[in-house]
Amino acid sequence: MPEYGLPKRKTKWAGVILFAVLIVCGVFETPVYIYQNGLSKAELLLFLFYFFATGMSITVGYHRLFAHATYKTNDFVRFLLLFFGAATYEESALKWASQHRQHHQFTDTELDPHNSKRGFWYCHIGWILFYKHCVNQNNVKDLLQNKLVMHQHKYYDFWALTAGILLPLAIGYGIGRPLGAFLMAVCLRMFLVMNAAFLINSYAHMIGDNSYNEKESARDHWLGALMTNGEGYHSFHHRFPNDYRNGIKWYHWDPTKWFIYTLSRFGMAWDLKRTPAGYF
Ligand SMILES: [Zn+2]
Ligand SMILES: [Zn+2]
Repeated sequence: MPEYGLPKRKTKWAGVILFAVLIVCGVFETPVYIYQNGLSKAELLLFLFYFFATGMSITVGYHRLFAHATYKTNDFVRFLLLFFGAATYEESALKWASQHRQHHQFTDTELDPHNSKRGFWYCHIGWILFYKHCVNQNNVKDLLQNKLVMHQHKYYDFWALTAGILLPLAIGYGIGRPLGAFLMAVCLRMFLVMNAAFLINSYAHMIGDNSYNEKESARDHWLGALMTNGEGYHSFHHRFPNDYRNGIKWYHWDPTKWFIYTLSRFGMAWDLKRTPAGYF
């Protein structure tokens, strides 16, 4: 398995083309489509469901479950998180978690995959589209043992295509609005969910308050939290990465925390890790 290494400059054309399609179809074509065809209740609900399910699968699943193991859950929930997580086209949970753990281990250094010292755009999207990274699976040995995680990793293209494109398109046909489903539930949704994740690496390392660790760039900011399902309380998260919460005050916007807590009330999540109040 490769060791940690420095990123190498390489344009990933598949990613560049995908992103161009998302911008043209999702951002520019959607308003034209709605202007010409109106917006049916079914296609709006499909978009909202997909936006919520895939966005939360990154924060509840990829981040707080697979990367940080802040709580435990059953295979049914794990499958749903892997399924809708794949739909975001943000790589497999295994690769995502490995790079994220590397980010926490080497924050703000050359070995950080999105080193904040390289500037906003590098952290936001440049590191993904224009650099090749060495992915070290030695830091995800726990995930290598999990059959569902490994299946999603091995057959990632199949999972992503099924969950991210074919299923919303099939539902689009079912409700008689296939083009609306493609533009909104596939393209616009993917563009928004991707950018929410990117903001955690850019905005949340540059704007706000870093009082939990002034030596690190990770910051807390309410607007960042609002755009990222609560991940914007990033200074707290870098200091206490094993906590299932990022926003710890009752008025902090952290729907990811609320979702995990709700799962626990229904017996579908347990062993939620909390930092004792005296530590912060
Ligand atoms: Zn960070
Ligand atoms: Zn993290």
